[in-house]
Amino acid sequence: MQVLVTGAAGYIGSHALRALVGAGHRVIALDNLSRGHRGAVPADVPFHQVDVRDTDAVETILREGRVECVMHFAAFTYVGESVEDPLLYYDNNTRGTLSVLRAVERAKTPRLVFSSTAATYGEPTEMPIRETTPQTPINPYGMSKLLSEHMLRDFAAKSPHFGYSVLRYFNVCGCAADASLGEDHEPETHLIPVILQAALGKREKITVFGEDYPTPDGTCIRDYVHVEDLADAHVKVMEALAPGDARVYNLGIGRGHSVKEILDAVRRVVDRPFKVESGPRRAGDPPALYADPSKIERELGWRARHTDIADAIESAWRWFLAHPAGYGD
Ligand code: UDP
Repeated sequence: MQVLVTGAAGYIGSHALRALVGAGHRVIALDNLSRGHRGAVPADVPFHQVDVRDTDAVETILREGRVECVMHFAAFTYVGESVEDPLLYYDNNTRGTLSVLRAVERAKTPRLVFSSTAATYGEPTEMPIRETTPQTPINPYGMSKLLSEHMLRDFAAKSPHFGYSVLRYFNVCGCAADASLGEDHEPETHLIPVILQAALGKREKITVFGEDYPTPDGTCIRDYVHVEDLADAHVKVMEALAPGDARVYNLGIGRGHSVKEILDAVRRVVDRPFKVESGPRRAGDPPALYADPSKIERELGWRARHTDIADAIESAWRWFLAHPAGYGD
């Protein structure tokens, strides 16, 4: 298939692009490079430095490339930043998706796979989280993605020749096995890279945000899914998409690790000391979040292959050792 990947120079988009190429698909990469890295997209892949809010430019790429599926990753992803500047998120994420949908409508592109998030569930009413668990986001980031999901659903309802999928990611982690693609965020806030940066001496310490949660060891529990498994799920979902489809799936491994368990796992993988301190809870962090990923397994046969968190930590560690300055741009 001919696939347009928006946000192709970002962490998840770049891994998905590689999985698409590996599965024999043809790809076109799009990124405005506001946060992505040109070096994350192979030089032989057609690349457009375009903002998804430029509807005309996206439409032209869809038409001229005879695109059969859009994978829409382009978005900002910091919860804290979204609280500080909500309009930035509604503009970039929600208006960005609106623009992509308008371009898809005009170019009559038949499929779209949307990058959504477990943050749309907010503080869930049941655990594990199913696709039918009520979505009540507690921050503008989650809401910006939920609004995008709604737009997509409503657009699809009147477009019988269009099929789409919404993929709700849990905590994405790890890097390409050959350490050629990785996580290069500025600032970095995610748990595993933050710990690895402390081990590398790039930050003084790691602070555990709250040890008084109602969990077995008092720290928060999350479902950590390897980025390569996530990328494979995108390919599988896209290949299954038929006109009229509205496929919504959680992508996680189906069980959680606490912050302390992650710290222990890093200590086993990384043979360097790092300083850990206890800090207060971070606003908006629910005690435990993990997926029920059985729907995608039942319907498409996908399940995470990397279920040992050490695999993801090892791959991320290799990336950091090989690329101390990230992509260097
Ligand atoms: N966390 C932490 N210290 C950090 C970063 C994260 O204790 O420096 C905790 C955070 O409170 C959460 C978990 O690690 O319980 C995962 O956080 P992350 O920011 O990686 O992902 P999120 O769950 O917010 O999407």
